Amino acid sequence: MTIWAFTGSVVLAIAAYVILSGFLTTYRKYRGLRVITCPENLESSSVRVDALRAAQWAAVSGDTVLRLRSCSRWPEMAGCGQECLSQIMAAPEGCAVSAIVTSWYDGKVCVYCNQPIGPIVWHERPPAVRSAEGVTREWKDIPAEQLPAVFRTHQPVCFNCSLTEGFLRTHPDMVVSRGRTAETQHTLAPSSGVY
Ligand SMILES: [Zn+2]
Repeated sequence: MTIWAFTGSVVLAIAAYVILSGFLTTYRKYRGLRVITCPENLESSSVRVDALRAAQWAAVSGDTVLRLRSCSRWPEMAGCGQECLSQIMAAPEGCAVSAIVTSWYDGKVCVYCNQPIGPIVWHERPPAVRSAEGVTREWKDIPAEQLPAVFRTHQPVCFNCSLTEGFLRTHPDMVVSRGRTAETQHTLAPSSGVY
């Protein structure tokens, strides 16, 4: 290999690295579900950016060009001007659903057992919320665009208590039997035995 061929290979490798790293950085930055305030009705909407297209643009031109891939207000508002993209450009991480959920649970304790919620285990042990009426549901069962409103009015529930509440909700007979057991125990006469 001549010096020129070697130099050419090095330059190509560097160029490929720069393009690939630009692609991956932009893709990671803009993938995933986000919650923004829709400029049209000033209410929360969940959107996804076309991260693949943004990454391709960034790799080729170095510029960030965003376009929505989906929105919870589509198809009714499919022809909108996508002005919400400025919110994503201003704070790409801040409006990500994962960041919103992490931020809300951070430092909170479970309303049932008073234990810290702790670091979130997203898929295996998702925490939950409890409404003012006492209904418990996992945060991931709530449409993302409703999360800001739900987090304003609900209380945090740890995964273990969420499991227990879900079990009791789907097995109301167990609630009755537990209540009866408690009643039975409550009506037992105090023992006079000495041990
Ligand atoms: Zn708990």
